[in-house]
Amino acid sequence: MSFAASFRCVHGCEGSIPLDEAVYRCPACGGLLEVVHDEAAWKTRSPAAWKKLFDDRYLRNTWPYGSGVWGKKEWVQPHVDDENVVSLFEGGTNMFWAERYGAALGLSDLWVKQCGVSHTGSFKDLGMTVLVSTVRQRIHDGRPVRAVVCASTGDTSAALAAYGAAAGIPVAVLLPEAKVTAAQLVQPLANGALVCSLATDFDGCMRVVQRLAADPDLYLANSMNSLRVEGQKTLSIEIVQQFDWEVPDWVLVPGGNLGNVSAIAKGFLEMHRAGLIDRMPRIACCQAERANPLYRAYRRALAAGRDLREEDFEPVEAGPTLASAIRIGDPVSMPKAVRALVACRGVVEHASEAELADAAARADRTGLFNCPHTGVALACLEKLVARRVIGPTDRVVVISTAHGLKFTEFKTRYHEDALDVPAGLPNRPVRIPGEVEAARDAILRALEARAGERT
Ligand SMILES: *Cc1c(COP(=O)(O)O)cnc(C)c1O
Ligand SMILES: [Zn+2]
Repeated sequence: MSFAASFRCVHGCEGSIPLDEAVYRCPACGGLLEVVHDEAAWKTRSPAAWKKLFDDRYLRNTWPYGSGVWGKKEWVQPHVDDENVVSLFEGGTNMFWAERYGAALGLSDLWVKQCGVSHTGSFKDLGMTVLVSTVRQRIHDGRPVRAVVCASTGDTSAALAAYGAAAGIPVAVLLPEAKVTAAQLVQPLANGALVCSLATDFDGCMRVVQRLAADPDLYLANSMNSLRVEGQKTLSIEIVQQFDWEVPDWVLVPGGNLGNVSAIAKGFLEMHRAGLIDRMPRIACCQAERANPLYRAYRRALAAGRDLREEDFEPVEAGPTLASAIRIGDPVSMPKAVRALVACRGVVEHASEAELADAAARADRTGLFNCPHTGVALACLEKLVARRVIGPTDRVVVISTAHGLKFTEFKTRYHEDALDVPAGLPNRPVRIPGEVEAARDAILRALEARAGERT
């Protein structure tokens, strides 16, 4: 059986475009494209056979199917030859059972999907493997590109630079000056990308890169390119796979450019249509209060007493937030996210700087090590639980989007209580003498003092 997919306009315009074309918007209406699969071909295999195939491949060594993304190749990008796949063994990330943190919130079934435990430290690897593999296939087929380019709040450029370097394909990244962390900047530098620092914000970089990519020699790697979404949607398949094909009640995800929330919904919808799951989870898109255009649109729709629509949306100028990777005021994937939320009976919540910092710290106390974006999702979780939107026995999966080690300034400044907002749970090093008896006394005294205050 052969599997096939192509780009189609999300607004339903006529015609389809091959996946290796450097086209990112509908030629007829200028709307977003999405990858549409020949789902009739999927039906030639039973749901049970698909589940078994995905399980048999999961984390094994047959190239490239051990990857959490490429183990679902027929559903992702069937047109890439196995030898052109550029994989760094993405996916297969740990589902952290947040038992103590959940208990503190009154939740009995809380999980944190650790998407940041990956090659470049964020979930961006899931989509970038598909995009760079497609470019490599295109080059192999005799249609070269000069470089793959992206605008980035940090993590996209790290992923693109790594996959480009692994494939030997030139990469140029556009970053907003002084708005990414040192760890995020050093990754594309180390991987040899052309790193361009622009005197504007992310939305400004996005406008520039879209114009650059009008030249097909400069291939666009932002999530406006729907190939990324195909890789990221495997996150949903992997989640149910990790629960022996049971669907969680809730999935919470931080949202910036809104590609990931769209991808997660697409994954669940496709599994539902193909019969791999019998119900949909609810999705909560979690935004930083200072970059919350989708939250505002959602409130407008609620006030009007109806489902969210595109016309509820107005871009905002995103303010400075600790959650720097989601500091986006005019998200490119907004139209897809609106559909995704309606299809999943989704909600949108937001969190202030103090809320996101303290939620991250509270969860860290139970063994996690959260980035500020995951902090946004956790703070929104706490609010949705308090309002009883999320119930005590619901199975809840929070998507952790990046590794905390990429955001050490955020964490060190929190624990020094040196952020703009007061830290609720700072933990400073204790100075003690360097001599055994005095050190023992000081340690025991300090432990005693803490025993009283610890939860
Ligand atoms: C990119 C990114 C996000 C936002 O994902 P979108 O698809 O842009 O909504 C959230 N957290 C981290 C760490 C990211 O790198
Ligand atoms: Zn169109």
